[in-house]
Amino acid sequence: MSSSVIDFIATEARFGARNYEPIGVVLSRGEGVWVWDTEGNRYLDCLSAYSAVSQGHCHPKILAAMVEQAHRLTLTSRAFHNDQLALFYEEIAALTGSHKVLPMNSGAEAVESAIKSVRKWGYEVKGVPDGQAEIIVCANNFHGRTLGVVGFSTDPETRGHFGPFAPGFKVIPFGDAAALAEAINPNTVAFLVEPIQGEAGVVIPPAGYFTEVRELCTANNVMLVLDEIQTGLGRTGKLLAEQHEGIEADVTLLGKALSGGFYPVSAVLSNNDVLGTLRPGQHGSTFGGNPLACAVARAAMRVLVEEGMIENAARQGAHFLKGLKDIRTNTIREVRGRGLMLAVELHPEAGRARRYCEALQAKGILAKDTHEHTIRIAPPLVITSDQVDWALERFAAILTQDFS
Ligand SMILES: *Cc1c(COP(=O)(O)O)cnc(C)c1O
Repeated sequence: MSSSVIDFIATEARFGARNYEPIGVVLSRGEGVWVWDTEGNRYLDCLSAYSAVSQGHCHPKILAAMVEQAHRLTLTSRAFHNDQLALFYEEIAALTGSHKVLPMNSGAEAVESAIKSVRKWGYEVKGVPDGQAEIIVCANNFHGRTLGVVGFSTDPETRGHFGPFAPGFKVIPFGDAAALAEAINPNTVAFLVEPIQGEAGVVIPPAGYFTEVRELCTANNVMLVLDEIQTGLGRTGKLLAEQHEGIEADVTLLGKALSGGFYPVSAVLSNNDVLGTLRPGQHGSTFGGNPLACAVARAAMRVLVEEGMIENAARQGAHFLKGLKDIRTNTIREVRGRGLMLAVELHPEAGRARRYCEALQAKGILAKDTHEHTIRIAPPLVITSDQVDWALERFAAILTQDFS
């Protein structure tokens, strides 16, 4: 390592809160699926900033929209209208088939906003007694890092010593429709769930689960809130992961790739009822719906569709999954994936996934370990067939090596 690399890392360690444990690479440039470190080494990005950079690094059309808008107008606050918000609403509603939109910034804010909205809906529309609303969530969920959200996490690392937490959440196992049926009561206002649990290690529920979930929610007048912040916008090979089972959520949460990685932009999408309960002064955000965010998100959505990235995710995802499954080695316990949301789970005896990620780094691939034994793979949706083959050669080389 050169002295400059050591310097960046040491300086971060000295001044920064140590709430992350990054792999030892300092990146300074990105283009498409590639990123470069400060020494000029090139890597294939197999994390895409947890799916925020689905459109590829520094996509030229999103960049142009951002620069153009930044020259004109960046922030008005919602105290005044701006000439980008209406267009953003129109385009995101048309793309996703939603009726109402609430623009926010981070993913966790979208989740918090959905919780507030479905509670309000519960009291004002469903008729739940004030203060009694219940929301059902799943074990091993990941919905962000705010206090409200970590309060219903089941991960001790995520919750530990951050309490006390807000009441009103009930946890059930993921992928178990019978558990949902049992947990619903007259005060249940919503079921909040990820279509595929990303941070838990790309956990795909059994086929038919969401069809049953949809029926249960409809039958009991419970809002189905799908957190598509990671699975949405093409990541799984469909615009929204809900389309794999042909269902429609009542409330859909988007974030991450909604800006192609340029800017924090998130949104709550709903039918008329849920977001319709919010009145002026009851919820807001200084930056939510600002013209720069809207211009960036409009371009990010446009290139996703115009450049065929969703279809490409389906095609290259299938190719990548098959290639990973074809690797013959007893270090792999299971390979999972849908579209370009993939994971390789290692046998516990094979050693920690972190070591494999560090070995992959030396071969020009950046991937991230999750939960000790799982390597998550989520390249930008613009990856080509040749690039998948290039990556597979390297994964095969590393996964057949013995690190135990
Ligand atoms: C990343 C993520 C969030 C939180 O988004 P932030 O922008 O980090 O607040 C919420 N839900 C899911 C499923 C996510 O993957």
